Amino acid sequence: MGYVDEVIERVIAKNPGEPEFHQAVKEVLESLRPVVEANEALYRREALLERITEPDRQIKFRVPWVDDKGQVQVNTGYRVQFNNAIGPYKGGLRLHPSVNIGIIKFLGFEQIFKNSLTSLPIGGGKGGSDFDPKGKSDREVMAFCQSFINELYKYIGADEDVPAGDIGTGAREIGYMFGQYKKIRGVYEGVLTGKGLSYGGSLARTEATGYGLLYLTEEMLKCNGLDIAGKTIAVSGAGNVAIYAIQKAQQLGAKPVTCSDSTGWIYDPEGIDVALLKEVKEVKRARLTEYAAARKSAQYHEGRGVWTVKCDIALPCATQNELDLDDAKALVANGCLAVAEGANMPTTLEATKYLQENKILFAPGKAANAGGVATSALEMSQNSERLSWSFEEVDSKLKDIMVNIFHNMDAAAKKYGHEGDYVVGANIAGFEKVATAMIAQGVC
Ligand code: NDP
Repeated sequence: MGYVDEVIERVIAKNPGEPEFHQAVKEVLESLRPVVEANEALYRREALLERITEPDRQIKFRVPWVDDKGQVQVNTGYRVQFNNAIGPYKGGLRLHPSVNIGIIKFLGFEQIFKNSLTSLPIGGGKGGSDFDPKGKSDREVMAFCQSFINELYKYIGADEDVPAGDIGTGAREIGYMFGQYKKIRGVYEGVLTGKGLSYGGSLARTEATGYGLLYLTEEMLKCNGLDIAGKTIAVSGAGNVAIYAIQKAQQLGAKPVTCSDSTGWIYDPEGIDVALLKEVKEVKRARLTEYAAARKSAQYHEGRGVWTVKCDIALPCATQNELDLDDAKALVANGCLAVAEGANMPTTLEATKYLQENKILFAPGKAANAGGVATSALEMSQNSERLSWSFEEVDSKLKDIMVNIFHNMDAAAKKYGHEGDYVVGANIAGFEKVATAMIAQGVC
């Protein structure tokens, strides 16, 4: 058995009941075969794949808090510090009832390679809790966030581990967490990113993941002889990534016609009204039925179905495994040209394979959605300098980073004989830098 297969088997045996983590390890390691085979003796001796698939540490803790009725509630908090070979751990905090250790490990593992791809000095980590901010009062959210930080503060810091937002963790949650960290530690430092603008946040961080997704998609199309202007786009999700992907797509002359949340989806053939979507989701925190009620051209459908709409480009921006093999078949049958992942691992392995076999341009999330973490790293730089850069400055750095990521993954795919396979390219380009750093730093 080859080294890659041995390590995949080992990871599955050592981490039972964590299917998302197994999936992420399989996806990454299988696409690293060309580089692993070229360096097998060295990597085996260094146990490099065993080390890179084992987190530096996994922290799991109780998060008790009091709800508005005076009842004590208990959630579970997690932080997985996966790998800090190239910089402090960096990765978001997910607050969603589905959160468990396997999901946090899959996200933390992917984050290692994504962060490396940005070319910035940040390691990989991820965290969160099974707490659901939906339907909670601001006071309840604050009580949860303070209790979460009461434990997590021991393990994070501007030079150690710098968490950020993710599903369920937006500016409100980051604000409460930052306030509590500052109170406990008595230091004012860039320990979290995604902060408000008045206390160390970066302009363009809110827009960064969605905008970055479009910058990379535009470059990928351009390098394949296609123009994004005039293209019809299907987007899933209606959160931070989806909203700003829709906004930037419109600025680039494309027409996004769908969005979705966990209960239903919108088809708006005249193009999504982004101001209305922001009002419904960012201000009112309401369901998409309110969007449909306010806009004549919009059709609302219960359940899922975004990928059945005829489109040129598909941008999954909601959650993991939301685009399966049947969805991929529908996209291909409808003449879709490109899929770029705004969410983390939204496309199943079978669906990815099908899309690639059918010559759809496919940009994996670790490259396509890296704009968020890249801009978080720019926020860290501004905090260290105690300066704030203008929106234009951050946005232009973001664009350069995304264009570079595309060319790095394109070049790595070509170098190892997989031209056009950006999954292989992104994984190899991200991995090589981390592997070199790990070997240089010895057994640790
Ligand atoms: P948000 O919480 O802002 O939005 C998530 C959206 O996806 C919501 O519309 C939500 O609907 C929907 N959704 C969540 N879970 C499910 C589910 N199980 N089934 C169907 N729909 C679901 O999160 P973000 O936009 O920040 O994140 C979206 C994805 O992008 C995630 O995979 C995240 O890890 C990834 N990502 C985010 C980055 C960022 O900077 N924000 C950076 C890089 C990646 P509802 O409101 O009904 O729950």
